[in-house]
Amino acid sequence: MITWKWILAASLLIPVSTLAQQKSHQENSAAADQQPSVQLVSASDSAPAPAPVKAAPATMDQVVNLAIQREHTLMSLLRTRTPLVETYLQNLQRDPQFGAVPKDDRYFLGRLDLAASVERRDYLSKDESFEKNLLGGFGKLFKMEYNPMGFSWMIFADREDFDRNHYDFKYIRREFLGDVRCFVFDVTPKKDSGKGRFLGRIWVEDEDFNIVRLNGTYAPRPKNAYFFHMDSWRLNLIPGYWLPAYIYSEEGDFSYGSKDKLAFKAQTRIWGYDLKKKAQENELASITVDSVKDESVAAADPSPLEAQREWQQQAEDNVVERLHEAGLLAPPGDVDKILQTVVNNLMVTNNIELPRPVHARVMLTSPLETFSVGNTIAISRGLIDVLPDESCLAMVLSHELAHIILGHNLGSKFAFTDRMLFSDQATYQNFGFKHSPEEEAAADAKALELLKKSPYTNKLDSVSLFLKELSKRAPELSALLTPHLGNSFTGDKGQLIRMSALMTSGPELSPGKLDQIAALPLGGRLKVNPWDDQVEMVKAAPVMIISARDKMPFEVTPFFPHLTRFEGGSSVATTTAANTQPKK
Ligand SMILES: [Zn+2]
Repeated sequence: MITWKWILAASLLIPVSTLAQQKSHQENSAAADQQPSVQLVSASDSAPAPAPVKAAPATMDQVVNLAIQREHTLMSLLRTRTPLVETYLQNLQRDPQFGAVPKDDRYFLGRLDLAASVERRDYLSKDESFEKNLLGGFGKLFKMEYNPMGFSWMIFADREDFDRNHYDFKYIRREFLGDVRCFVFDVTPKKDSGKGRFLGRIWVEDEDFNIVRLNGTYAPRPKNAYFFHMDSWRLNLIPGYWLPAYIYSEEGDFSYGSKDKLAFKAQTRIWGYDLKKKAQENELASITVDSVKDESVAAADPSPLEAQREWQQQAEDNVVERLHEAGLLAPPGDVDKILQTVVNNLMVTNNIELPRPVHARVMLTSPLETFSVGNTIAISRGLIDVLPDESCLAMVLSHELAHIILGHNLGSKFAFTDRMLFSDQATYQNFGFKHSPEEEAAADAKALELLKKSPYTNKLDSVSLFLKELSKRAPELSALLTPHLGNSFTGDKGQLIRMSALMTSGPELSPGKLDQIAALPLGGRLKVNPWDDQVEMVKAAPVMIISARDKMPFEVTPFFPHLTRFEGGSSVATTTAANTQPKK
């Protein structure tokens, strides 16, 4: 039996600003004195060597020069990277009780190519035009149809001309963002410096003089088009560099009498910067594995049933590895152990023994989905985020565990490795782990049985409330509820079908009741390390809910990561390649 923080947090909303990426450590400054404060990511990397910062700047003018220089160095580094970029957007409408609430939503997932021009290859669209450079002219970019490229553009202030010829910089003040002391500057485009220039504020950290946050928009605004406002955050995940990680965008005015038609809020997340390098490491790792003797050979030859299970294991391993390579599945980590503990609780109390162990992994994407392949259960980051407590997590996992127990996951076609050979962008076209409606119903029935006999049986009220809230919000959140690999929570008409039997019992859903938290906003549970894709639980103190508008179930909220400097031994950084760590 586990005691998990979720139980304590069950009736308390996780705050909106909880995406701190690293533990707070400040020992770095001592080490920085003995070495150039800016280092290469690795000797073998194709990124050009950044010029080390020589002496501390004496004036704000020099700080600006260094910040401009560092911005161009960052662009050079990222030229060899193709991180994933995900944008989830909620269009808003006014609600008398809850303020601005989602009326519909959109979802984009793609791979950024930061080479010559910013390009975005989409995971979701089969439309070839997505493959082409979407950065035609600025006028086309930020129209009402939310070109996804528009959101990923905001990772830099100005890719082309970020310099003193095009911009004026005005020093404002010093300010701490998390643990990091920053110089704050207002940035304005010079007169007649061209269209689509950055207009806003930058925060420059005071050791290596990298930009760590950008907040503003682009100007001048072209006719019939919008430039979105953005708040763009970077994280210090490798020595000397701050990598774009989160962008929050919001438009709309809900004050009385406003005629603003465009109203939305959107979260853009970037991760998978180190995916290419991971693949190279795997090549080296396989040599070590080959040299290990297979002890099991001496024991016995496999029986036909054992061979069948071995074959299924191979299929499962292939799929898990391929999803990891595509940047869709987090590497194994501590969150998996939490998930597996819940699975074990369900299995032990139901006396279930399986010939192969059950594993649980985290999908890195936002849409609420689960799927299982072989004995591996995957659950999306977005779904974990919105679950209010452990019993709801048990409900979600029990459904996939039921598929495993009922033998629904026998498709072993992925044991043939040629079926893994496709581009990362084509993952969603090549993989799919959907079950038939009959299997879904059978899994729900079995899951209910598992839950009833489990330690969660007395806590099904919160599960009931979660499903009621999901059912109520589902019509407005179809993009969030569209699964890409597994089955949907909802049916054709947007009605909730997954585990719907649990909705018939339990308390009434009372949106106005402040102590009833049926579902959480997105982003409150898990944080992803954008460099190596490791996930960990957010460590946030509960924040008191003051009005019903604070609940924001399933909604996106601004990012406010607690910034810290890279620290070689920190838990999120230990899995990056050894050569990215500072020399001691
Ligand atoms: Zn299912």
